[in-house]
Amino acid sequence: MTVEELNPLKNVQKIIKETCKNLNLSESIYKLIKEPDRVIEVNIPVKMDDGSIEVFKGYRSQHNNTLGPTKGGIRFHQGVNLDEVKALSIWMTFKCAIANIPFGGGKGGIIVDPKTLSKGELERLSRGYVEKLYEVLGEDLDIPAPDVNTNAQIIAWMADEYNKLSRENAWGTFTGKPVVLNGSKGRSEATGLGIAIVLKEALKKLNKSLNNSSIAVQGFGNVGSNAALCIENLGGKVVSVAEWHREKGFYAIHDERGLNIEKLISYFNEKGTLLGFAGSSEIKEEEFWSLPVDVLVPAALENSININNVDLIKAKLICEGANGPLTPVADDILKRKGIEVTPDILTNAGGVIVSYFEWVQNLDNYYWNEEHVKEKEEEFLVDAFNNVWSMKEKFNCNMRNAAYMYAIKKLAEAMKYRGWY
Ligand code: GLU
Repeated sequence: MTVEELNPLKNVQKIIKETCKNLNLSESIYKLIKEPDRVIEVNIPVKMDDGSIEVFKGYRSQHNNTLGPTKGGIRFHQGVNLDEVKALSIWMTFKCAIANIPFGGGKGGIIVDPKTLSKGELERLSRGYVEKLYEVLGEDLDIPAPDVNTNAQIIAWMADEYNKLSRENAWGTFTGKPVVLNGSKGRSEATGLGIAIVLKEALKKLNKSLNNSSIAVQGFGNVGSNAALCIENLGGKVVSVAEWHREKGFYAIHDERGLNIEKLISYFNEKGTLLGFAGSSEIKEEEFWSLPVDVLVPAALENSININNVDLIKAKLICEGANGPLTPVADDILKRKGIEVTPDILTNAGGVIVSYFEWVQNLDNYYWNEEHVKEKEEEFLVDAFNNVWSMKEKFNCNMRNAAYMYAIKKLAEAMKYRGWY
């Protein structure tokens, strides 16, 4: 029986090593990028509503700033751990390199299930995180954004705390802020829209069109729900959505005729579940992964597609909405079966691309309209997609290997000019 490596740091290090070898790069490159430049662990005391004190553990990892200030989200999740944060920050470096935006990679997290906190506790925790990390953040240093379970409100508290401590109006220190507080139009939907754009481009290469395609989406948080909505707006038919519930675990709904995503989002916001949505029926986890759809979009957490469910998959294309949703073993199996995968570091780059636009708008003090943001996002993503595709053709490899080659080649060149090796 194959034992799978589920540690995302070990997995990303392995692919970095392989990529350096395929590109004939010196061992020094691998040594320079296999670990983050700096990782900080903090313990954040929070006064709870009942008067007691809880101490939450948080991290910030700054992987590599060759191409610019480090950039990446902060997640609030009970499963957060050091190796995960490190891996996520490494992926951010590659994602920014592929997107051609002037940032390095960073990532942060707090070990907490935010659903167990009151609004006041959540605010104090968010502000506490910034208080502990204040010195290493900044619009020219390290720029956080939302990630799993964090949103514009949490980022607004964090940006407010940072500006209070620094006595500045340094709004560019955080992206993903509410539009009314110097955020960018189009930021909250940006990752989802980006997934839809990449999915459409990939289908074109497979000589298929989005109009005749059926899609299943795993995860209905900010990323999954917006991806589903944008896919639908571009003409795709989303036939199934899966979610996770604290008590129930994995569950999914299905409607062969296509789910109305706008209505489903309102329903989910109101009821807190997808179950019971008009016209849909509940399906089991095994049925979800086995659906005979054209495209599958895993948009939840790492390692969702692994040795246990990969053989069930019948989709012809997988677009990775989440970071690291496939284990390397699953990836290998899909490669052998000829199933095309658009990798996370390309597919979900729409979020950080619009974060870059937000940062540019903050530094310029000049704000764009939504149409302009969306047009530019598409331009950046289509360019990134084509660069990765050219690499794939040149090296006759899959899109994941091509994406890593594109990013690492660029980083190696830039580090050489900087005199780092
Ligand atoms: N958390 C998002 C990601 O993983 C967005 C990061 C950002 O906008 O900086 O790409």
